[in-house]
Amino acid sequence: MKPRPPVVAILGHVDHGKTSLLDYIRKTHVADKEFGGITQKIGAYEITVPIKGYNTNKLTFIDTPGHEAFSKLRARGAQVADIAILLIDAKDSLMPQTIESISHIKAAKIPFIVVLNKIDLPDANPNKVKNDLLQHEVMVEGKGGSVAVVEVSAKTGAGIPELLESLLLIASEANLSYDPQADPLAYIIETKKDRRGLVVSAIIKQGTLKIGDTIYSARKKAKVKSLVNDLGVSVTQVVPSSPFELLGFNELPEVGSEMSTTEGAVETVVMHGSVPGKLTLDSILHPEVVDKKLNLIIKTDTQGSLEAINYSLAKNKNIEIILQAVGEINRSDIFLAKTTKAIIIGFGGQIDSQVRNLAKQEKIIIKTYNIIYELLEELGEVADLIEEKEIQEKTVKGEAKVLATFIIEGEKIYGLKVTKGKVNLADNVELFRDVKLISKTKLVSLKQRAKSVQEVKKDQEAGMVFSPDLDMRVGDVVKFVL
Ligand code: GDP
Repeated sequence: MKPRPPVVAILGHVDHGKTSLLDYIRKTHVADKEFGGITQKIGAYEITVPIKGYNTNKLTFIDTPGHEAFSKLRARGAQVADIAILLIDAKDSLMPQTIESISHIKAAKIPFIVVLNKIDLPDANPNKVKNDLLQHEVMVEGKGGSVAVVEVSAKTGAGIPELLESLLLIASEANLSYDPQADPLAYIIETKKDRRGLVVSAIIKQGTLKIGDTIYSARKKAKVKSLVNDLGVSVTQVVPSSPFELLGFNELPEVGSEMSTTEGAVETVVMHGSVPGKLTLDSILHPEVVDKKLNLIIKTDTQGSLEAINYSLAKNKNIEIILQAVGEINRSDIFLAKTTKAIIIGFGGQIDSQVRNLAKQEKIIIKTYNIIYELLEELGEVADLIEEKEIQEKTVKGEAKVLATFIIEGEKIYGLKVTKGKVNLADNVELFRDVKLISKTKLVSLKQRAKSVQEVKKDQEAGMVFSPDLDMRVGDVVKFVL
């Protein structure tokens, strides 16, 4: 295993200086001429920092800042970024997109660093920003927490060496590594068509990718014809975590999808929930949608209604609030909902038709309300149902389906196939017909190929006798409970 540089993404509110920071770092650290190249915009760039003592002295920055790009990649399955920068204007402090960015970073479960920008301005107030962050459960160093915080100016360059060193430190602590012999794995960050043909920009996270390799993205295949680095220089191979351009696809693969040498590599688009519209019980309790908890993204028109809703919902242990913010429902909310399997709740606002279409396309449920009471009542009911479902699931240890019935020597024997969990002799049994509980009984004989057994597992068939006999029919579902 070899250490690999971290891939860094910058998130934060518009105009807080994300692009300026990326430009400053690129300008001061990319030695284009030395390598005979000219910096190319390929969606990411790599720099070398003249500091020793860490696992790596390289860093890769994703060049499209902001949480929309970040969440879009993640919604498509690409776990590209290893570290996030939460960039905040030290004069303006937290703004709506800062709060959204915090939720996106938390949902990604990656380490992050707080960067306070525009420190050159006389009215910059870093201490206020640090205090404001506490309200959003971001505890920085010096305020009782461990999240690193660096003060910089993307204009003068002040603090940027410290920022880069902090990133190297976080990367060393995370022990990022790769196996040069492993099959290559890369994530597509951009695609385009230019005079060279179809060009895929990607960041490699595992293995070594060479010219001549055959690579797949979902069902699209490419023989690697050319590899170009971020300086526009042709190379024969790339290793983690370098950004590169690849030529060889005849059909453009999807941004955010992975490229690997395995044919039919995972289709990264994850289906989720039912069609938007009515919030039906079935759609919400679909295991794909909720993972025990009901994950919510709440957007409201005013701070007052947000606080009222949040106050009431926070008490419900079956509800997890992924993001709560004032503002219209936007594209990045949809992507965040997709990655966190959340439902979006809008209160008192309008939804842009483009956002609505994206939700439809990504199969995200959006529910809007104008009366707080209705919202609380409906979500409360759903949360209670989740709890009931959980309790039910806890006690059911196995499930089987009746395939056949026989009468042997006057005794009714059923042939069942175990569809979930396992079944043991003497289990208590509940008989279901058309989803309804019919009656209860006990398993008194369990046989496989005429031999008595104690246990039958999922996908196995067995002959069973129940006492009392409930006159089961083919197609009935039998649940074995604790
Ligand atoms: P983005 O929307 O987050 O990418 O923000 P930009 O990088 O476009 O910056 C927004 C504005 O803030 C521009 O006018 C920049 O010149 C200015 N700006 C960015 N960083 C600094 C800084 O450190 N100090 C000062 N004084 N201005 C900055």
